[in-house]
Amino acid sequence: MGQPCLLDLEREDVAAWMREMRQPQFRVNQVWQAVYVELVDTAEQITTLPQALRRELQQAFPACVCAVDAEQVSADLRTKKALLRFADGATVEAVLMTYAHRRTVCVSTQVGCAIGCSFCATGRQGFVRNLSVGEIVSQVLHFARLLHRSPDVETSGGGGRVTNVVFMGMGEPFLNLDATFNAIRRLNDPDGFRLGARSFTVSTAGIVPGIDRLANELPQVNLAVSLHAGSDVLRNVLVPVNRTFPLRELIATCRRYIESTGRRITFEIALIEDVNDSLMHAKEIAALLHGLIAHVNLIPLNPVRGDAFLPSPRKRVAAFADMLRSRGIPTTVRLGRGVGIDAGCGQLRSRRGHPTTAD
Ligand code: SAH
Ligand code: SF4
Repeated sequence: MGQPCLLDLEREDVAAWMREMRQPQFRVNQVWQAVYVELVDTAEQITTLPQALRRELQQAFPACVCAVDAEQVSADLRTKKALLRFADGATVEAVLMTYAHRRTVCVSTQVGCAIGCSFCATGRQGFVRNLSVGEIVSQVLHFARLLHRSPDVETSGGGGRVTNVVFMGMGEPFLNLDATFNAIRRLNDPDGFRLGARSFTVSTAGIVPGIDRLANELPQVNLAVSLHAGSDVLRNVLVPVNRTFPLRELIATCRRYIESTGRRITFEIALIEDVNDSLMHAKEIAALLHGLIAHVNLIPLNPVRGDAFLPSPRKRVAAFADMLRSRGIPTTVRLGRGVGIDAGCGQLRSRRGHPTTAD
């Protein structure tokens, strides 16, 4: 990481900086309120601070996002995707989804991803770097500001605040664990952004040590596990990290998680035609999850350009869901939000240079 940005600062860092500048400590609160409640973009906009101090703060700690390279809105106006560019030129995508009573932001934790799932656009691009706490937080604040400033636009779902944050964008959150956890703590701060711990969901491809740490350190945060297959043979191919953390170990860890937190886990399965969508596959999943407090979310594969994989047909998805339900596993089928603008699960990637007008 290069120079830290304003959102990389903990409250103590702001306090230390104010001491260095021989400023009274109430200035710390002024900064915190301006950034996390009034949602200013940059230190220069913190009007409660004397002008010279604003400028110094701005120079020392610039904004994390230096440009919004492109923004796309889905045809129904309910999904909005932004391509955000950071100081070193790296870009990530973040998505806002508005529902009747929820406004969910889907954030990225890494530029690219090292795990390389065969059906995922991010995985195909390889790993570039981890995001900092500030860079993760900035994605949420980007959309929070949008909602705050334009409460009437239809994309805001009638205005209001961000109600949920899901770590389901680019990257594997548990391979950038400290920044992910600190971003959650920052957004959860009762004196700042005030988003409840239960409003966060972290999705993992199955990094076992990360699941244990989530249970210990942030037990109220929701966990989603990207399962995709109920046998090691198939999962090794679809989610290569399964070779490091095979299903036996993953499921034992999930069981520990449920026992220690008392919380249900959501298992996600992207259904791919003729790859993992038969009734035999459904039975394998049912056997694997037997006895766990679990919920399964089926996502008909979102198409990734240039990919040989096809989404499972609607009928197959319904039959798969029925099979799981008949074996006592609560199952839902996720609607393909944002697919028309490549904002669906697994469709996010970085782009350099050109805005995404071709999409
Ligand atoms: N790396 C984490 C979180 C980001 S991916 C993880 O894998 O869980 C978010 C979700 O999108 C995961 O469940 C992932 O398996 C799913 N996904 C990836 N590519 C997809 C695609 N092409 N269609 C549907 N879901 C996909
Ligand atoms: Fe990485 Fe998740 Fe995509 Fe797999 S599905 S490549 S873990 S972002």
